[in-house]
Amino acid sequence: MKAHTPLVIGNWKMNPATVGEARKLFLEVRKELGRKMRTTVVAVAAPAPFISEIERLNPSQRIALAGQDIFFETTGAFTGEVSLPMLKSVGATAIIVGHSERRARGETDADIYKDILSIIKANVTAVVCVGEKERDSQGNFYSVVEAQLRSALAAVPKSKLKQLVIAYEPVWAIGTGKTATPEDVYEMKLFIQKVIVGQYGRPSLKTVRIIYGGSVKKDNAEILMKIGRVDGFLVGGASLKPKEFIAIINSAEAYATNA
Ligand code: PEP
Repeated sequence: MKAHTPLVIGNWKMNPATVGEARKLFLEVRKELGRKMRTTVVAVAAPAPFISEIERLNPSQRIALAGQDIFFETTGAFTGEVSLPMLKSVGATAIIVGHSERRARGETDADIYKDILSIIKANVTAVVCVGEKERDSQGNFYSVVEAQLRSALAAVPKSKLKQLVIAYEPVWAIGTGKTATPEDVYEMKLFIQKVIVGQYGRPSLKTVRIIYGGSVKKDNAEILMKIGRVDGFLVGGASLKPKEFIAIINSAEAYATNA
């Protein structure tokens, strides 16, 4: 049996355009998910302005709500920023942090470190994205991931490890239709585990989920679970298609119960 129940997070990114469309999308996801009992934890990371409306449509809290990013300060003169207490107050229980689309807009490991501190302090889950821009044949991409990971882990004391999820997201696989091979995903999972164990000891393996993101679809989800042996997925594009998103959740679930 796997150590973790799977976790599947839909990252809606800057979609859809209006609160009405967000409502419709969420209700479709909720309907497709149905009442079937699952062990998989399902979360949706909607744009910040839509989260409180979505929380209203989610009285059973069967679908966890996540933020896509935060600014580490809590309140103050920071025009345009959204803080962790704000997202928590509208129902977010997890925050994606260090997504490559944020890193591409200038977010540094130092910023991400501060974001994680703020999230961990507030007892919220930090879904920390790490991943290389390109895969070179010398294996230098491992040091890229290691540097991102070590900087993030510095913000997480051992006592707070249960609030940490690592999302391995090779940048070249995000939104491109290219996926890392399940074997490569497994190797990276082992590498990430090695770094985590080096810092926190072996019991941490049972605490920290390692999920994969990068063009996950219903057709590749099962093999990524089976061979890649990840604990779930961060899903971008496919999370905007409720049937496809639920099919991914079902693959994660099938593997978890059959493992
Ligand atoms: C993402 O945005 O984290 C992501 C993995 O996107 P996609 O599934 O579209 O590649």
